[in-house]
Amino acid sequence: MDEIRIENLKVFANHGVLQSEKKEGQYFYINAVIELPLGKAGRTDDLNDTVSYAELCEVMVKEMQAGSYDLIEAATRHLIVHILSNYKMINSITIEMRKPDAPINANFGSVSVKMSRGRHKVFIAYGSSMGYEMDGKVLESPEIIEGAVKLLSDDPEIEIIKKSSDIVTEPYGGVAKNKFYNGMLMAETFYEPEELLDCLHSVEKSFGRSREVHWGDRTLDLDIIYYDHDVIDTDRLSVPHPDMQNRDFVLEPLNEMAPGMVHPVLHMTTEQLLKIMKKCK
Ligand code: ATP
Ligand code: CA
Ligand code: CA
Repeated sequence: MDEIRIENLKVFANHGVLQSEKKEGQYFYINAVIELPLGKAGRTDDLNDTVSYAELCEVMVKEMQAGSYDLIEAATRHLIVHILSNYKMINSITIEMRKPDAPINANFGSVSVKMSRGRHKVFIAYGSSMGYEMDGKVLESPEIIEGAVKLLSDDPEIEIIKKSSDIVTEPYGGVAKNKFYNGMLMAETFYEPEELLDCLHSVEKSFGRSREVHWGDRTLDLDIIYYDHDVIDTDRLSVPHPDMQNRDFVLEPLNEMAPGMVHPVLHMTTEQLLKIMKKCK
């Protein structure tokens, strides 16, 4: 992948845990490695076909001076999210932030943090089979789903690209009693997989999700179906969702927006998975 690199951008700003750091400020030094395709600009010699490094430097200085964070972790993440949100041509970015005058009672050269984030295409399945009382008003499943989509859209690290139509299905797995409203979101996110899971759990929680009975009725369920073409198997996360190929309420809405998408383990398109599932029913 092609890169633009910015080295030792010096910015005076007011980040730090101590009140004195916020008040008096200090110098921060930024290294940025920005991944984007540069081939076209190489051929055309046209600034419009790349991202101006001068503009990136100005943006980073401005954003560093606009607010005051306790942590350089937060300042770094803010820069990454701001740049990825505003420059669609950029695929990923690594920022290293140094703080040579950090108030540490020891002899040291400098302290720094380094963070990399990029764009990821994800599919998130939603489901709801019971209402939730919020501020004295009962939200029914369609309103919960609408509220969840709004919360996700408001997250600066998630952009909802498409929402399927809702489908109403009979309960699955023999535990739940109510009808389910199901559907799928196609989104772009800067979150790493487990960060996205945490975010989905917090949205579920905003609508009163509890987990007493597995596969029981729920106000809101948000599952990661695909995360790019990645195969993930950790204690907390299995992606692609291990049961997706058996669920019509997952495959139908997925087929609406990504019929040709290939399952990275089963090596079949959504259309093929749906056909096989229907035959087996
Ligand atoms: P199912 O996963 O079979 O649809 P469920 O959605 O009702 O069942 P939950 O109680 O919502 O199950 O989730 C239990 C745990 O599953 C979550 O806490 C999460 O850590 C884990 N999990 C594993 N893979 C995924 C995934 N792809 N999406 C969401 N959660 C997942
Ligand atoms: Ca689920
Ligand atoms: Ca779930």
